[in-house]
Amino acid sequence: MTRILIIGGGISGLSLAYRLQEQLADAEVLVLERSSRPGGTIETVRRDGFTIEAGPNGFPDNNPSTLDLAREVGLADLLQSASDSASKHRFLLLDERLRMLPSGMASFLVSPLLSWYAKYRILSERYRRPLVPIGDESIDAFARRRLGDEVADTFVDAFVTGILAGDSKLLSVRASFPRLANWERDHGSIFGGMAHARRLRRAESGSTTKRAGKMWSFQGGLSSLTGALVERFRTAPIFGVTVRRVSRDGPQWRVEAEGRDAWTADAVALCCPAYRQAEALADLDPTLAESIGAIPYNRVAVVAVGYRREDVPHSLDGFGYLSPQRTRRDVLGVQWCSSIYPGRAPEGMVLLRAMCGGWHRGEMLDWDDDRLVAAVRAELAVSVGVKEPPRFVHVVRWQKAIPQYQLGHLDRVAAIEARLAVHPGLFVGGNSYRGVALNDCVEQSGLLAARIAAWAQSARSVQD
Ligand SMILES: Cc1cc2nc3c(=O)[nH]c(=O)nc-3n(C[C@H](O)[C@H](O)[C@H](O)COP(=O)(O)OP(=O)(O)OC[C@H]3O[C@@H](n4cnc5c(N)ncnc54)[C@H](O)[C@@H]3O)c2cc1C
Repeated sequence: MTRILIIGGGISGLSLAYRLQEQLADAEVLVLERSSRPGGTIETVRRDGFTIEAGPNGFPDNNPSTLDLAREVGLADLLQSASDSASKHRFLLLDERLRMLPSGMASFLVSPLLSWYAKYRILSERYRRPLVPIGDESIDAFARRRLGDEVADTFVDAFVTGILAGDSKLLSVRASFPRLANWERDHGSIFGGMAHARRLRRAESGSTTKRAGKMWSFQGGLSSLTGALVERFRTAPIFGVTVRRVSRDGPQWRVEAEGRDAWTADAVALCCPAYRQAEALADLDPTLAESIGAIPYNRVAVVAVGYRREDVPHSLDGFGYLSPQRTRRDVLGVQWCSSIYPGRAPEGMVLLRAMCGGWHRGEMLDWDDDRLVAAVRAELAVSVGVKEPPRFVHVVRWQKAIPQYQLGHLDRVAAIEARLAVHPGLFVGGNSYRGVALNDCVEQSGLLAARIAAWAQSARSVQD
């Protein structure tokens, strides 16, 4: 029987195990996970009647991978989409005021957020000649070239803050947002590519109406998904195992953990974060380990605060707001969780979630809870006018939060893949390579499962 070990039980490792088990009916697929629970960055916490996401808050339906997986594991009835107001109303905090982001052409044309020249640059993007940049291009440079300086400084900076808490000048557009770069390459412009993608989606769904593009989660939070995956495993994951070393043991792989535990297997897939993969591979292949270990991470603190509804003067009618990082504010953005997903706070209360730190303000992770909460309170006084203290607080620190795909990332990934070719049966996955969003992790794990299954089948036919 083929035995495959998966190291790391976040969404990448769990969805990889699920897909492998589907494709290799007679294989043993075993997940080894460092902590005492599945999910990794996905962690739903229930406290005092609040449902708090410590990590991701949801996944959009512009890529169906997570939605499809959820339905397959029987969670269709628990799926919860973001409220209509959250889907339509998103804000930027600029000059100490919340400004609503345009949600359609009419609101875009009258939006005070952009000058007429910036609006002209956006409207004419479709007719601007595509340019094939030599070498890698940053998100910031791409946005300036296609959409102009104002859009890059305000919207793109905020967009990158919201998704990656990173620096748009350092991050590679092809690695971080491949769809944007591909739209220019394949359709001549971002808006041309976007229109094409929309037409495809409509044709697939058979509908002629524009789809809203919503965020999704589950009643009870995102941990429902990771819990449901584990319940469907033929072999239960082993928790509390910190893998330290992966080495060759004759024709097999040997995986050693802290303490004296060790396993052998035909194939190993590392789905833990890049710096842990590097540690585990350091003896086997120092060059490979160095390339993997060089992928940088940011630091993010999540500060969830609960207030009595009457203590918050703002309507909180929307998703929340972002502050472009160039403004260097203490808070990168705030999600109005109980407005996005009703039911996340007890009756008469609201739940908000502030993100602090990120690429530019990593030092904030060294602040104690009181200082972090004070910074968030000061920010919320400005943005939504709340002066009262919160009735509930929950702080989470992610010391290595989100891998940053900086310029040269795709060359690094190509070098890692080339190096792996000399280690048959050794695979790497997870959010460090080709997408950090949950949808990307699930999609990439599906592709990796197909590669591992093909490898296992060919290895077996050689033995037979
Ligand atoms: C604050 C925050 C908010 C986010 N918000 C969103 C969002 O709203 N939407 C979205 O799509 N994405 C979001 N993301 C990104 C997304 O959550 C992650 O990219 C994704 O969950 C990563 O999954 P993963 O399985 O690749 O890695 P991880 O979740 O990091 O899982 C890796 C696992 O490996 C385990 N491990 C580590 N070392 C070892 C070892 N030596 N041996 C065994 N096991 C080990 C860890 O304990 C962990 O369980 C957010 C991320 C953060 C930090």
